[in-house]
Amino acid sequence: MKNSAGVYLACNQAYKDYVGLSDEHIIGKTDFDIFSHDEAELFEEQDKRILKEGKPLVIKQWGTYALSGNRVFFDVIKAPVRTPDGELVGVLGIGRDITRRKEDEEKLELAALVYRNSSEAILISNADNHILAVNPAFEKITGYTAAEVIGRDPKLLSSGRQDKAFYKAMWDALDEKGYWRGELWNRRKNGESYASWLTINVVYNEDRSVRYYVELSNDFTEKKEAEDMIWRQANFDFLTNLPNRRMLMDRMKQELVKVNQSGKKLALLFLDLDNFKDINDTLGHDAGDHLLLDVAKRLKDCVREFDTVSRLGGDEFAIILTELSDLPTMEKIAHSILRSLAQPYQLGSEIAYVTGSIGITVYPDDGTDIDTLMRNADQALYAAKLAGRNRMSYFTASMQAAAQNRIRLANDMRIAINEHQFEMLYQPIVEIETGRIQKAEALIRWHHPVRGIISPTEFIFIAEETGQILTISDWAFGEVARELSRWREHLFPDLQISFNISPIVFQNKNDYSDWFEVLEKLNVPGSSIVMEITEGVLIVSNTQVLDRLAEFHQYGMEVALDDFGTGYSSLSYLKKFPIDYLKIDQAFVRHIENEPKDMALCEAIIVMAHKLDMKVIAEGVQDDGQRLLLAGAGCNYGQGYLFSEPLTAAEFEKLLESNRLER
Ligand code: C2E
Ligand code: MG
Ligand code: MG
Repeated sequence: MKNSAGVYLACNQAYKDYVGLSDEHIIGKTDFDIFSHDEAELFEEQDKRILKEGKPLVIKQWGTYALSGNRVFFDVIKAPVRTPDGELVGVLGIGRDITRRKEDEEKLELAALVYRNSSEAILISNADNHILAVNPAFEKITGYTAAEVIGRDPKLLSSGRQDKAFYKAMWDALDEKGYWRGELWNRRKNGESYASWLTINVVYNEDRSVRYYVELSNDFTEKKEAEDMIWRQANFDFLTNLPNRRMLMDRMKQELVKVNQSGKKLALLFLDLDNFKDINDTLGHDAGDHLLLDVAKRLKDCVREFDTVSRLGGDEFAIILTELSDLPTMEKIAHSILRSLAQPYQLGSEIAYVTGSIGITVYPDDGTDIDTLMRNADQALYAAKLAGRNRMSYFTASMQAAAQNRIRLANDMRIAINEHQFEMLYQPIVEIETGRIQKAEALIRWHHPVRGIISPTEFIFIAEETGQILTISDWAFGEVARELSRWREHLFPDLQISFNISPIVFQNKNDYSDWFEVLEKLNVPGSSIVMEITEGVLIVSNTQVLDRLAEFHQYGMEVALDDFGTGYSSLSYLKKFPIDYLKIDQAFVRHIENEPKDMALCEAIIVMAHKLDMKVIAEGVQDDGQRLLLAGAGCNYGQGYLFSEPLTAAEFEKLLESNRLER
């Protein structure tokens, strides 16, 4: 309390604590003795105003405890003090510390700010689960206005994607721990689902009963979809949606643990389509994709629901058959897969036929770790392909040996040319009527320093796999040209030699000028060479094949279609390509004496070939009966052990000589 001149008359302890002074430093003094000059001037001005107007003043202001330096917020009332007869004698001031309240207010303001501006949806509901309030972000994310949801149950957002157990776990957590946090799918007003991260906190009353549930949630659908997509791309095949190699490995790990516990077996199957490339090349990639989708579906239909079908890439699939109590079950499934795959495929307006080969390895019988099992299945698949496709093959120890053998042969082959280990043999091709040698087929042999003579059926495909076939073919062609030039000059000017050209060479060698040059240097005309191609070559990319064949023809060479009857035997393509000779495969010739159907086929092939202006060479003629039948059917040439086995150059030369004498 101050008098009208601003001099302190009295104060209480709280005031003394605030200014940090004792009575004698306050009473009888003015504000100018106690506060800073600025503050004192402010107070003086307030006091003067009160005395002048005769009315109390309410002021809110910050102050600082002189000793502790604590900031406080005061709610101050200053009132004029009068004597009983109404004379103004001074000013009484009462200040209340309302710092706490002030802080609470600020917090509330801040909370409101957050609440309004948050990008997270906020929903507050009461203990009965009625929505009390939602913020603007909630309205934006869900599409509901506050008015539409207040009073309703938050359930209205549920998308139905989570099951009862999910919500039960959530409520259990809320009851027990007072909060829950997790990911879930909600539904917007427009029916769209969205992924959200939800945090629910329970706010309690003093008696620990529930007062509010406060839910914070966001919409991370886009992020979630992006994450899902990345995960899918990493683990699933884009085209078929089947697990990819990586996912297959994961599943293998899991399944191996399971079968270890159950004591059952697991089979890993590798599957490869036998002629997928042809489909792709002839009908286009769209058709190829359709076929793969169809294959994926057929595979899934053949296995049990807990088995895994995965696509490793291209036309390669892997299948895990798990929890097998016996192997016949597995065998049944593998057979049904082969049968199912061999059914015709409707690709747009075309019908395609494809078969599959399967390699099988069994855990734990053949191996106990994933790498070994994968390698085994691969080797078994290889064996199935070699054995003639459209079949399955089990992994055996001998397969492993064969795989190692292939690797070894591929290595040994590198030096074989330089070490002169290859030799060309010549098998005569005779006019079937007269038995006269008109041509010969050049057939390669490998004199392996350790393993002796290796047949081309054993090493050509390895050379094709490693690409060494290109160099070997160059060597072989040069060799043949050299012999040809000698024989034509000295023994038989019209001699023709058939040269087997590997499909790999045919598809990859784009320039034959080096071969043509070899012939030119030796003065050998192109017409003395017959290029033997196989049917597979003709199915693949027509224009390129046509160009190549045209090039051969331009150079005077002739073309023979080898092994006719064993491949696609699609007669329709024959008229599309300029082919001079058809070689009926020995598989047909072998049985013509006692298989009327084979004989009929041979006759039909011969008639058709002649109609298309082609001559026919029968392969594998081994006895006179066959020769007579073929001659009767009008076959032009024969080749086989009946006439001669493949001969060395020297032997063939001798034979040619005696043949010449006969002429
Ligand atoms: P191919 O072109 O069909 O050759 C005919 C095969 O039948 C030859 O086997 C020949 O020895 C064999 N053969 C001939 N007459 C008879 C017979 O009366 N009975 C039986 N059972 N077989 C007979 P070879 O020499 O083992 O060659 C096998 C295959 O290897 C050839 O089949 C050919 O596709 C390929 N080949 C051979 N030499 C070469 C070559 O220099 N380059 C390429 N790319 N492939 C070659
Ligand atoms: Mg041949
Ligand atoms: Mg042949």
